Amino acid sequence: MDRIYADHASTTPISEQALQAMTDCMRQYYGNPSSIHACGREAARALKAAREKIASCIGAEPGEIYFTSGGTEADNQAIRTAAAYGKMTGRRHMIISQTEHHAVLNCIPALEEDGFAVTLLPVDKTGLVSVEELKKAFRPDTCMVAVMSVNNEVGTAAPVAEIGRLCRERGILFFSDSVAAAGHIAVNVKENGVSMLSVSGHKFGGPRGIGALYVSSEIPVANLMYGGSQEKTKRPGTQNVPGAVAMAAALCDSVEKMPENTEKLETLRERLIQGLSDVEGMWLNGSETSRFPGIVNLGFEGVSGEALMLLMDLNGICVSTGAACNTESVEPSHVLLALGLSADAARSCIRVSLSADNTEEEVDAICEAIGTAVERIRG
Ligand SMILES: *Cc1c(COP(=O)(O)O)cnc(C)c1O
Repeated sequence: MDRIYADHASTTPISEQALQAMTDCMRQYYGNPSSIHACGREAARALKAAREKIASCIGAEPGEIYFTSGGTEADNQAIRTAAAYGKMTGRRHMIISQTEHHAVLNCIPALEEDGFAVTLLPVDKTGLVSVEELKKAFRPDTCMVAVMSVNNEVGTAAPVAEIGRLCRERGILFFSDSVAAAGHIAVNVKENGVSMLSVSGHKFGGPRGIGALYVSSEIPVANLMYGGSQEKTKRPGTQNVPGAVAMAAALCDSVEKMPENTEKLETLRERLIQGLSDVEGMWLNGSETSRFPGIVNLGFEGVSGEALMLLMDLNGICVSTGAACNTESVEPSHVLLALGLSADAARSCIRVSLSADNTEEEVDAICEAIGTAVERIRG
């Protein structure tokens, strides 16, 4: 039986466009983009074009894009940039949503060591941050609010435009981790008042090990590393030109196909949920109204999510129990706990994350496998 891949929120297969762009770039533009000679200039041109593409896909200026090694690095650099801004302006309070990726949440101990106070912003049972709660959390010394655009475990999409407006009114930085959003839902930093934003190539058909950080030109970027003059000295080290070129190709392609892909994903999502309606004790995590349809988080009463995932794997179906980065941990998902699930309920969930390349037949096979596995585990 052919394998079925339904774990696109962990990582995506590389798109044909990105693969082609990457291999072409590796063959033709092998120079160091910082070299003055013709080979270097060619590589620099390719990098410039990639930067312009990324910028145009998120409504930024090319000069506001910094290439990084991925989403985690971009998230860390955004947090460090906010910390430097806070020190500069004498404000040492940050507001960070409870359901952020660990690339953001695990920065908190270091921030606290640095003298920052952090308020964790709660979410409702659908994973949405409340704007009212946010208003209550603001302090005169708040320097940054971090709320991700789309949650990678449950697919809930945050009210970014509203949060951006509230932050802008108060002169507070707004950082939105858009790693799970970019290429999947519309992302526009200027329209939404976003000061900093992160993306990662491998979540939308690009390669791993390449990401980008957008920082509004009004804000001085803080370094994580020191070295050469690449990325305006803010992210030194020879740039990953093929990675950047491939990421740009993948992002442009995803943005272009977004309307048709969204429609297809809505159909597949409906089919998946319909196909599981007979399974007793099944529930959906996340929001029905504000969401990216490609991420479907499902709970099954009295069933271990891990056992379910493993049984599906035996059937050649790849899904996950949550974020792939946390497979080593026995802790239930911090996201599901933040939604108000008990630890037991949180351990009874799986995430099916679809792409527009998945077919209706595959969704039917997923439903069948889930039904059989749930029965087996309960029986
Ligand atoms: C995957 C992911 C990251 C980390 O990105 P990497 O490129 O794997 O380091 C950060 N935030 C979110 C929301 C993600 O889904």
